[in-house]
Amino acid sequence: MGRVALVTGGSRGIGAAISVALKEAGYSVAANYAGNDEAASKFSADTGIPTYKWNVADYEASKAGIAKVEADLGPVDVVVANAGITRDAPFHKMTPEQWQQVIDTNLTGVFNTVHPVWPGMRDRKFGRVIVISSVNGQKGQFAQVNYAATKAGDLGIVKSLAQEGARNGITANAICPGYIATEMVMAVPEKVRESIIAQIPAGRLGEPGEIARCVVFLASEDASFINGSTISANGAQFFS
Ligand code: NDP
Repeated sequence: MGRVALVTGGSRGIGAAISVALKEAGYSVAANYAGNDEAASKFSADTGIPTYKWNVADYEASKAGIAKVEADLGPVDVVVANAGITRDAPFHKMTPEQWQQVIDTNLTGVFNTVHPVWPGMRDRKFGRVIVISSVNGQKGQFAQVNYAATKAGDLGIVKSLAQEGARNGITANAICPGYIATEMVMAVPEKVRESIIAQIPAGRLGEPGEIARCVVFLASEDASFINGSTISANGAQFFS
């Protein structure tokens, strides 16, 4: 197939599972990360997937990093904007810094990741943009005004990109995972985790591979008429 996929935050957690699943599906994969060199080297040694360090919140760094990926692997056909952070606090205690860090990484980071690859996708008349949003962007969450704002923003981004890209063979879709068993979720105290699981009708956390397989589907030719959509993968956590 020879297609190239870039996964931001692709060295750990859900992103690592996405990188591996895309490699297994035949893509040449580049996994970006922010600063955890040790995890990135181990991931690369274990999987054979090259890792590239840059901060998605920085437009110039993203442009330069993506140029390096394209020089090494070829033009990016599939871009998965997965890198994300949390800086939780109840609204009355949330600092402007906590607000801004999450906006810069989770929302502006999506712009910075997609904008440099968009012209090439238009020229080649093919592209797949997949943004990892969250159930908390769909329903809001206590102490996550910043995070929920960015994840809801992702849904506006893909709906708009879908309309701009459709005539040029580009699709843009979002996946909203529920609670997934990554380091982030496994690090919360067991009691809190149990109360989270109690609210999931499936009675368990999701697995990173369950999100990764949605990405592989959205990247495929089979998904070519799915554009501007949101896949909720959350074990039946309904929301109004
Ligand atoms: P992890 O914390 O396990 O991994 C985050 C990855 O993103 C790491 O590779 C990290 O790099 C990278 N990253 C963080 N900030 C930046 C940055 N500024 N620039 C480049 N890379 C960055 O996260 P998860 O796997 O849990 O989450 C992945 C995505 O899924 C996020 O967008 C998250 O919001 C979303 N999500 C997660 C859920 C969950 O239950 N886990 C539920 C719903 C959505 P490094 O290793 O260098 O730190």
